[in-house]
Amino acid sequence: MPFKSRWTVDIPTVTLPTFLFTSPTAPLSETPLMIDPEKPERYHLSHHTYRLWSKRLAAGLRKAGFQLGERLLLYSGNTIYFPTVFMGTICAGGVFTGANPTYVARELAYQLQDSGARYLISAEASLDTALEAADSIDFPRDRVFVFDNGYATFDNTGKSVRGIRHWTSLLSSVSEAESFAWEESSTYEQANRTICLNYSSGTTGVPKGVEITHTNYIANTLQVNHFGTLLPREEYVAMLSRARALCFLPMYHAYAQTYFCVGCVVKSVPVYVMQKFDFVKMLECVQRFRITALTMVPPIVVAMAKSPVVKNYDLSSVEDAGCGAAPLGREVCIEFERLWPDGKVNVKQGWGMTEVTCSAAGWDPNERSETFAVGELNPNCEGKIVTDDVGLNEVAQGERGELWIRAPNVMKGYWNRPDATAETLTEDGWLKTGDIAYRDHDGKLFIVDRKKELIKVKGNQVAPAELEAQLLEHPAVVDAAVVGVTIHGEERPRAYLVKKPDTPVSAKEIATFMEKRVSPHKRLVGGVHFIDAIPKNPSGKILRKVLREKAQAEVGDS
Ligand code: AMP
Repeated sequence: MPFKSRWTVDIPTVTLPTFLFTSPTAPLSETPLMIDPEKPERYHLSHHTYRLWSKRLAAGLRKAGFQLGERLLLYSGNTIYFPTVFMGTICAGGVFTGANPTYVARELAYQLQDSGARYLISAEASLDTALEAADSIDFPRDRVFVFDNGYATFDNTGKSVRGIRHWTSLLSSVSEAESFAWEESSTYEQANRTICLNYSSGTTGVPKGVEITHTNYIANTLQVNHFGTLLPREEYVAMLSRARALCFLPMYHAYAQTYFCVGCVVKSVPVYVMQKFDFVKMLECVQRFRITALTMVPPIVVAMAKSPVVKNYDLSSVEDAGCGAAPLGREVCIEFERLWPDGKVNVKQGWGMTEVTCSAAGWDPNERSETFAVGELNPNCEGKIVTDDVGLNEVAQGERGELWIRAPNVMKGYWNRPDATAETLTEDGWLKTGDIAYRDHDGKLFIVDRKKELIKVKGNQVAPAELEAQLLEHPAVVDAAVVGVTIHGEERPRAYLVKKPDTPVSAKEIATFMEKRVSPHKRLVGGVHFIDAIPKNPSGKILRKVLREKAQAEVGDS
């Protein structure tokens, strides 16, 4: 029998802008909410100005001819204006898609083309790469815009960089924005429109646009925020009143996007937005702004647990430590928790994936985590753990199998990929996660392995199929397989290659060849190895499990 969450929340049938801002004109707080830690007094947005800037972009986009359902791609690190581009696109009736700012031109061109974006807004620092990507697919340069550090001021409106207009030239005037209203009606059909494409390779193949709807975001935000409300009422209110969050995870990814562009806003929790992760700056920010909640990925927990530098900072404001995106052992959490000798900080792992908007399992804050469990199913979620492909053979409690999820935060499907959608979503709404899990007597879930091809490097996705396609473009390579191997507790991509006979090529040459074609987290730092044949089943599918075991045996249990 499928198991259900202990909790339920009511999910209103409204659009995300209405959920986030109540209405286009309702009075909203002017207290700083998105704050730039480099210049907190000068650069910040309140709930009110978050909506104003979103409406300015929305009104400007509509004036420029941006149609309902068209896509806008933002290629940038975090800034306090990142959320306004996200919400502005959605307020305009469009679809937002964010690209990893470390992408090389080939990767960006792929997403630009796959999403069919009408506009590309690129960080100034990455403009060369953005233009190279745009030119490679004949994307018109007059639809490329520059996003500087996000310090969008009226002065920048007429500015251009190497002939490329500043993104603020897309903004309407304040008075036009004031009279702009997003689509407020709330039919089921409207609430279930796609508003975002977050890229994920899913269980197999290359990255695909995960279609996230208004309802998906609203459901996931209400589910995640519900956990806090399980605290005794007074404690919850007091906790919220002193809460301060720090965003160092990238907002182009589902994790930070859902937590910080939406989740913190509805709770009125101020977010200090770092442009990118920097360990020492992160510690400085925690100390300086008295951050109460850390939203992390495993390498950050490890670095904090191990680095002697941490002792130089006052981290006493921290109350809450959450981690997700990849496996994390309990031992390192214990080391991390020792940074607070009073025992007040307990690392809670959550579990999620882009295909469930962000998260599908978390913790009742009244409980302590003493294992590597990822908590229980979010409100309104159903789960089952199965050993077959049609979902009929459910395992007994405590046994392992693939985790399937059915919930209002499960994606609509993969953009323009009906086949991949049909492989991943069953007709009755179950999502095949590709993660191997078990559930204990208490309802806690444990993620123990991955059935899918996906490799995760520092929380970032690496799709073996994408690397294999690139490797096959090398003239000396006739066959290729990429698997993840764990070295010093971190997953790394490792390639097995079959060489063309009599064609000399070295592992180093292959690694260098790949460096130009993929962003840094996809590099083959787990090694490049030549073998006689890639192990495959009779229908030609790579036997990844065999290769993974081989790889792990070669490197040992490090
Ligand atoms: P993404 O779509 O980039 O968020 O990646 C989702 C995948 O990350 C999941 O399907 C898991 O394989 C992995 N993942 C996320 N959270 C955890 C966790 N707490 N423990 C183990 N793996 C995780």
